Amino acid sequence: KTAFNYLVSLVYQSTNQSMSRSVKAAVIGAGVAGLCAARELRREGHRVVVFEKADRIGGLWYYDPRVESDPLGIDPNRETVHSSLYLSLRTNLPRQMMSFLDYPFAKRETGDPRAFPSHEEVLRFLDKFADDFGLIELVRFNSEVVRVERVEEKENEWSVEWRTRGSDSVSREVFDAVVVCTGNQSEPQLTAVAGIEKWPGYQIHSHNYRVPEPFKDQIVVIIGYGPSGYEISRGIATEAKQVHIATKIPNVRVTQLENHKNIWLHMMIEHVCEDGKVVFQDGSFVYADTILYCTGYNYRYPFLETNGIVTVEENRVGPLFKHVFPPRLAPWLSFIGVAYKDIGFPLRDLQSKWVARVLSGKVLLPNEEEMAASTEEHYRQMEENGVPKRFTHALYPNGNEYHNWILGQIGLPPQEWRWNLLAELIKSSLIAMNEGYRDEWDEDYWDSVIKESSQPLVN
Ligand code: FAD
Repeated sequence: KTAFNYLVSLVYQSTNQSMSRSVKAAVIGAGVAGLCAARELRREGHRVVVFEKADRIGGLWYYDPRVESDPLGIDPNRETVHSSLYLSLRTNLPRQMMSFLDYPFAKRETGDPRAFPSHEEVLRFLDKFADDFGLIELVRFNSEVVRVERVEEKENEWSVEWRTRGSDSVSREVFDAVVVCTGNQSEPQLTAVAGIEKWPGYQIHSHNYRVPEPFKDQIVVIIGYGPSGYEISRGIATEAKQVHIATKIPNVRVTQLENHKNIWLHMMIEHVCEDGKVVFQDGSFVYADTILYCTGYNYRYPFLETNGIVTVEENRVGPLFKHVFPPRLAPWLSFIGVAYKDIGFPLRDLQSKWVARVLSGKVLLPNEEEMAASTEEHYRQMEENGVPKRFTHALYPNGNEYHNWILGQIGLPPQEWRWNLLAELIKSSLIAMNEGYRDEWDEDYWDSVIKESSQPLVN
């Protein structure tokens, strides 16, 4: 069926180029996703307005030293901060994998030339991207979107309301289409810890971790050993007395990490006590000053009103055909960057190209029933394989298949090199437990592999 749809779309594309439709689109957010969306929509001849609540582009890559008024991120009335970056952050992917499809994240004479550069270098790259494609002129800065809804059930009339910083009044404008690019790594997700109500120490989510100094001489327990737990544990250990990581790694024994005299791995926390004790599942315990949750993020779209057509349940945004289009509202409402455990920059670029071409009518979507059935089938397979609902949008290990499917939709050939690169990265960093992987990365070798294997990408 996919091949058939693709054939139909190719025939349609070749016969309908002249009938291409131009829409007025609102893009919400000017991070990586919003910048890609703006560029692709404009390339396709659409009229674009980007709403951005901050005063500059970059989204998460715009480092903000502030910490939210509630460091756990529970209080709905807290003063929020968008970025989850900490000061010492270096990318966890090499710059080739953070390039857009036709726009490399190249080294420049000024700046940070490393293969895995600092976050400042990523922001400079995004600034240059926005400059080179004249995207800044499309952005309304300091404009927080507070409500998005269909106008009287009309499929392609969307009311967008926004508030300009410093003003109480709300403005409104109607668009044909809305592309949601608001990011998904700002709203802390926590895990339940037995006894936590009476535990007297300090609690903070990694979203609000910036620098290690406040943890000087402390005993810190970190929950979670994904990329954030891994990196932050090393950062905090430069100041803290001890760092204990509670992990779900099966059968882990209390282990002091090689090369780190003050970091230990443990099983998950069993319970915590009024006297400050943190007891792990194997019975070992520490008296801790801080618990730091590296437990991920929740999806949240507080501005979106779809009368229950799109919901967020147990971290599933649904239903979304291929993580982008809600079948009942497609193509007029779409989401870029919901999928994760993937190579995020090219993913956003690809999804943006797809959305822009679907909106112009050059690429066809399956009909509503087919999209809904495909989404249901995905859910069914997850259930059959025992995959919890909260991992609905995790692409790994099938990201390659997903990227190639979208590439096919927009008439580009499959690309394997990114996935070979990712496999190599996982092998040399995680599997080899090699913390120096960033500086040992053989850039020249990978550059030559990429040159050999990549085809011209823009069409
Ligand atoms: P964001 O960058 O979050 O941008 C969303 C934008 O929407 C923001 O500018 C925000 O202000 C705006 N916005 C939100 N709500 C509204 C509203 N209501 N109205 C108007 N504007 C709004 N990826 C990599 O590829 N490599 C890495 O090394 C890497 N490191 C990471 C490290 C950390 C700690 C984290 C948390 C993530 C990392 N990522 C990394 C993933 C990262 O999320 C993506 O790279 C990417 O930045 C996400 O872009 P985005 O545009 O989807 O979201």
